[in-house]
Amino acid sequence: MKSQKLISKALALNATDLHVIPKVKSSTIQARVDHRLYTLEEIPLNQSTRLISHFKFLAGMDIGEKRKPQNGSIHHYLPTQGNIHLRLSTLPSAYNEALAIRILPQSMMNPYEQLSIFPKSLDQIGQLLKRSQGLLLFVGPTGSGKTTLLYSLLQHAQRQSKRQIITLEDPIEKRMDHFLQIEINEPAGVTYLDGFKSILRHDPDVIMIGEIRDEATAHLAIRAALTGHLVLSTLHAKDTTGCLYRLLEFGLKFEDLKQTLLGVVSQQLCELVCPYCGTECTIPCLVRRTNRRMGIYEVLVGETLGEVMEEVQLKKDHKANFPKLNDYIVRAEAMGFITTQPSSDRIGWNYGEA
Ligand SMILES: [Zn+2]
Repeated sequence: MKSQKLISKALALNATDLHVIPKVKSSTIQARVDHRLYTLEEIPLNQSTRLISHFKFLAGMDIGEKRKPQNGSIHHYLPTQGNIHLRLSTLPSAYNEALAIRILPQSMMNPYEQLSIFPKSLDQIGQLLKRSQGLLLFVGPTGSGKTTLLYSLLQHAQRQSKRQIITLEDPIEKRMDHFLQIEINEPAGVTYLDGFKSILRHDPDVIMIGEIRDEATAHLAIRAALTGHLVLSTLHAKDTTGCLYRLLEFGLKFEDLKQTLLGVVSQQLCELVCPYCGTECTIPCLVRRTNRRMGIYEVLVGETLGEVMEEVQLKKDHKANFPKLNDYIVRAEAMGFITTQPSSDRIGWNYGEA
């Protein structure tokens, strides 16, 4: 099997990883799709040795060295898929070298409306992107698709109005055209604080901060939002209301929050019921299914956001009424889109990163 053909096949399956695993007389090629491993084919050992050598050559690795593990990467352009980035690693095994390839497509990004089982839930957030200043926050566990949604919204903001978008990320999870992306590198002295100061000098309109993780980043985000920037960021909290408590714990002034906070989104990624077979898909099924996972979003904006903020400030019981994540999950189950409660360990990326 040729390397290019193998990559195309993996992309057609939306696979996140490829493995070439040597045995005594042959090698097994496997692809990881939605956390499960599928065997694509068995090839003779001499073919797999050639295949691995070819990949090593493309990745600039030492072809002659087979006894030590090696790492490499390939940037590749496919007319149908755009740019893809492959991260390769070899491992000497008892029989021969094993190869693992992580597949990171770089430019495919679905419009944000297509990320949700209930597209209307995200409409209000899409509208808020037109604002010239304020703070939009996204909460959810690792792998709930926060970063995917953020990139998709930024892409939308970029298309909608030609604004300067700068992101500060740790690490950069997806390389995007049209944004300036800065990677945090603490050993090299690029901290959130320094990075933030530098990006402000680059006259951004929209700023994405990978994560508000402490008091310092929280204050920076608020300051940027107060001084004429639209700021998007993520935060660890259990739901939209929890996010408000967390912000106050970071020592932010309630008045500043009231002035800047435009909305909070909490999310969960759900595995969809397969329309062809049920849930345990086979390879032909995976190729046919384009959408295998979608998000469910709880959105807190507008007057309801004001009400909940007041409840949080005055430590009152929560009476503000708005659809919660669980309401959407129940609805999605009733409508037959999903079967079980989504679990937080499901990966969020369409290619396997948080
Ligand atoms: Zn299926």
